[in-house]
Amino acid sequence: MMRRNKEILCIISIVFMFIGYGNLYAEEKDVYKETIIVGGDNYFPPFEYVDKNGVYKGFNVDILRAIAIEMGIDLDIRPMPWYEAIMALNEREIDAIQGMKYSISRSYLYDFSDPYLVSSQSIFVRSDNSYIVNIEDLEKKKIAIQKNDIAKDVLKNIMDIQIIETENQQMALKKLIKGEVDAYIGNRLTGLYIIQKDGYTKDVKIVGEEINPLNYGIVVNKGNKVLLKMFNEGLMRIKKNGTYDKIYKKWFGEPINPPYAYIKRTLYFSIVVLFFSLFGIFIFYRWNYLLKKEVNKRTQQLKRESLFKEQIINSIFSGLITFNNQGIILSANEKAAYFLDMPIEAFVKKHFKDTVVKEYFYEEDFYEVLQTGKEKMNIEKNINVEGINKVFEYNIYPLVLHEDDVYGITLTFKDITNEKLMKERMIMKDKLESLGRLVAGIAHEIRNPLTSIKAYIELIPYKYDKKEFREKISEDVPKEIERLNSIISNLLEYAKPKVPNKEMVKVHDEILGIIVFFSNQIKKKNIKLICNMKEDLFIYVDKQQFKQIMINFLLNAIEAFEKTENPEICITAEKNGDFAVIIIKDNGCGIASENEKKIFEPFFTTKDNGTGLGLSISYQFIKENGGDITVSSHLETGTKINMILPLFKEKRSTANV
Ligand code: ADP
Ligand code: MG
Repeated sequence: MMRRNKEILCIISIVFMFIGYGNLYAEEKDVYKETIIVGGDNYFPPFEYVDKNGVYKGFNVDILRAIAIEMGIDLDIRPMPWYEAIMALNEREIDAIQGMKYSISRSYLYDFSDPYLVSSQSIFVRSDNSYIVNIEDLEKKKIAIQKNDIAKDVLKNIMDIQIIETENQQMALKKLIKGEVDAYIGNRLTGLYIIQKDGYTKDVKIVGEEINPLNYGIVVNKGNKVLLKMFNEGLMRIKKNGTYDKIYKKWFGEPINPPYAYIKRTLYFSIVVLFFSLFGIFIFYRWNYLLKKEVNKRTQQLKRESLFKEQIINSIFSGLITFNNQGIILSANEKAAYFLDMPIEAFVKKHFKDTVVKEYFYEEDFYEVLQTGKEKMNIEKNINVEGINKVFEYNIYPLVLHEDDVYGITLTFKDITNEKLMKERMIMKDKLESLGRLVAGIAHEIRNPLTSIKAYIELIPYKYDKKEFREKISEDVPKEIERLNSIISNLLEYAKPKVPNKEMVKVHDEILGIIVFFSNQIKKKNIKLICNMKEDLFIYVDKQQFKQIMINFLLNAIEAFEKTENPEICITAEKNGDFAVIIIKDNGCGIASENEKKIFEPFFTTKDNGTGLGLSISYQFIKENGGDITVSSHLETGTKINMILPLFKEKRSTANV
């Protein structure tokens, strides 16, 4: 039941709403049919005024007429003094006033249409005036204003200003043109109208900002919504279709001298914006440029550096291969490719076991370096390359990031086949050289036993019967023959090339055996030979090489005695720790201090018939046998050669046999 009542109530309200709306609509229609009476000031040019022919015209009149045409309504526009117009509206004798400035107090009494103008005051000065650009510049100046003009309030705050009031704006303008005042302040649009009408556009300009801008529109009595709506609609339409602009131009013309301050401000603002934009663009481009330059520089530098490194790596005479700790080949230089006789791409990024690289070093060395982090140097390996035997020497270095963290290794290797060959040839040459010199001495040694054998043989026919003779001959001749045999076999052993082979060598016996070679020269030069050698001194060296070392030292000592008065050679051999110390000292010519550094260089000699190979080869042999050598010498005093060689140890012999 309740629900039903509600429904009925709802329907009734809707019906009433329609009736109401219909009435409103009917009222609106009625308004349009009636003549609307509009009042306006009878003298407020150019907004509204009655001209000398009694015609009511002006900007407001044109606007209202345009609205009337647009909206299809009848308007009766009546000019009257301003206060009468106000009263007529209050008494509802008229429906509207065509133009009124907006103010809060007025808004309580009337309803304002949308503004169709902004009414403001402006400062007018002569065109040649450049010292007044703003309201502040009016200080101590003479200013004209229309009597009771709103501008008076604004000027109150300015010091020392002299205000001259005139009947209307036209008279104020006249005073300005005549130069009686510095400026006049008045309604902007009225001012524009008068200036253009009287032809002063070239003589007068507007400066500063608009003063006291206020909206200006049509007013109706409070609550007359229908009429207000109609005016607003009309205003909107004439603004849209361009009629408004035409009317505006007709009455106020083009704006003269747009406000200087406005231009100044706009210009200033534009310059600031432009400056900052340009500055921004400049910074951006500059930064970009510098960045590009830096990047280019770095790129070039990097390119140069990597090219430089590449060139260095490729220019070294060794093959260079790097591996990671898994055995994968990471990189290689051109020399490596040359030695392996295949392009780099053929073996890089592969495991070394899958390539020929594995032939060039002993695999255990690779793992040892990875494990210990210590390099392995100067290891030789014989390799058969396409049927030709070659000797390669290699070094393995660990690549270490942190301690104990070996992340890879580098292998450098080179072909030392020719080097080896050269070395062997040099050794041979040195050997033959000293052999030549030895043979001369040995001839004498051979002649001695031969002479004694010959003497025995010649005596046989005469003394054979004597028992003593027979005993002597059977004892001495085999001795002499044995001596001959030993000299010759010693010589043969020395002369023939031999593969290096370390063995136990008795220093005492070996040196005495060598001295035999020199006995002739020793006698001839009257050399005093002092031997002070321990008998139980055994070294672990290559016997052949040891012999060659000693021969070179003794030869050099003997050759140093060209002008020595009491030539003396002193040989000592004794034990010191794990080494045998062998010293060969002479009191010969000595070595000039500037030559001391060079004596171990191959082919360095101060002798006319010298080879300069003796010491260089001896040095190599000593090093190869795990020994060392130092030479101290003074001119005229003599030379001392101090050589150490490793002692023979029982354990080592069993291990090697
Ligand atoms: P060579 O004997 O053929 O000149 P070496 O290599 O044996 O070549 O010696 C090089 C040089 O060292 C000699 O030319 C000499 O000037 C100097 N020298 C070596 N040993 C002695 C020595 N005991 N006394 C003086 N000079 C020596
Ligand atoms: Mg020599």
